[in-house]
Amino acid sequence: MKLIRSSKCSLKFATASKLSELHKVLSEYGRVCNIFIDYFWKNGTPSKSELLKDIVNLPETWLTARLRKVAAREAIDMITAVKERWKDKPWKISMPVHKGKRAYVSCTIAELQDKETAEFDAWLHLQSIGEEIILDFPIKFHKHFNKLAIQGKRLNSYIITEKYVQLSFEIDVGDKKKGVNAIGVDTGIKALASLNNSQQYGLDTEACIERIKRCEHGSNGQKQARRAFKQRIDEVVQEIVKEFKHIDLVVVEALKNMNYKSKLKRRLSKNMRRSIGTWAYRYWLKRLEQACETNRVSFRTVAPFYTSQTCPSCGHVDRGNRVGQVFRCLSCGHAGNADVVGARNILTRFLTGLYGARYKPYALGFVQV
Ligand SMILES: [Zn+2]
Repeated sequence: MKLIRSSKCSLKFATASKLSELHKVLSEYGRVCNIFIDYFWKNGTPSKSELLKDIVNLPETWLTARLRKVAAREAIDMITAVKERWKDKPWKISMPVHKGKRAYVSCTIAELQDKETAEFDAWLHLQSIGEEIILDFPIKFHKHFNKLAIQGKRLNSYIITEKYVQLSFEIDVGDKKKGVNAIGVDTGIKALASLNNSQQYGLDTEACIERIKRCEHGSNGQKQARRAFKQRIDEVVQEIVKEFKHIDLVVVEALKNMNYKSKLKRRLSKNMRRSIGTWAYRYWLKRLEQACETNRVSFRTVAPFYTSQTCPSCGHVDRGNRVGQVFRCLSCGHAGNADVVGARNILTRFLTGLYGARYKPYALGFVQV
C-alpha cells in the first residue's frame, strides 16, 4: 500500500525582500484563482484537459500562462471540493474564495534543489511566475522531513505559503497484515484511549481539556493549550503503536459523515459532552488512522449507538448501566470500567455486525475480549 505523507519546511531564512515578493505573487495568484472560480461557477467547470488558451487567457494579469493554468486547475479543485463536501446539506452552497495565502504548484513552477551549503540543506527555486521573477529560498531540513525522505520518494508537488513550503512523499508500506488480532478503542475524557483488553492511555486527558477550557476563547493561551493537547494526543498514538506488533486491526467509533440534524449527530453531541470535543476527536482519530496505515494495520469504524450503555455480557441496553466511569449492568450485574466496556462493545459490534461492518473473516472466537 502506498501512502502520501507531507512535511513543512520554513521559509523564514529568506530575506525580507524575497518574502515580500512572494507575498505579491501569492496575492496575485489568489486574485487570478478567484477570477477563474467566478467564471467556472457561472459557466460550469471544465475538465482539466479542457483548459485551453481561451480560458487560461481570461484574467488580465502579469502571471505567466503556466501559472495561470495552475490557478485554473486549483479553481476547479476548489469548486469540486466544495460541491462534494456540501452535497447532502440542506443549505445553498456558496462559491469558494481563494484567500491568496497558498498555491499548489508542480515541478513546472517549483523545484527543490539539493545545493548544500554550510548553513542550508537545499534551495526552493521558483520560476515561470511572471515579470521575470525568479525566487530562491534557502531551506533547512528537519527530523520529520529527513525521516520521510528516508522512508519514501519525494513527489513533484509543492504547497507554497508565505511561511513555509509543504513537500509530499510517497511511502510504500507494503501489504496490510492479514492476521486476526483485533482491538476495540473507546475515546473518553478520563482516558483518551481505552482498549478492550483493559489497557488505558492518556489518563491526563481531562486535565488537558480543563486547561483549554480555562483559557479565554481564541486567546494565545488557548492556542498554546490546544497545541499541548495535540502533542499529547500524538504521544498517546505512539504509545499505542508500540502494541501494534501484536495487532492487525483497530476498531473505533465513527465520527465521519455526520449529517446536519441527523440522529447520529445528536447522539454524538450527547456523547461528546463526556468526551473531548469534536476537533480533538477528529485529530485523534486521524492520527490513529495514519499510525495504522504506516504499520499496515487495518482501521475500521462502527456506528456509535449505545456503546457505553450496552452490557457486553448479557446485551442489556440501559442508560442506567453507566454511572460516570463505572459500568454496572442493571440486568445481570456485570461490572467494569465504563470506557473499557465501551471498547469491548465497539469491537463486538464490529465483529458481529450489529450496525457494524459485517466483516466476515473475523469471528468472535478468534479474539480475546
Ligand atoms: Zn448484563
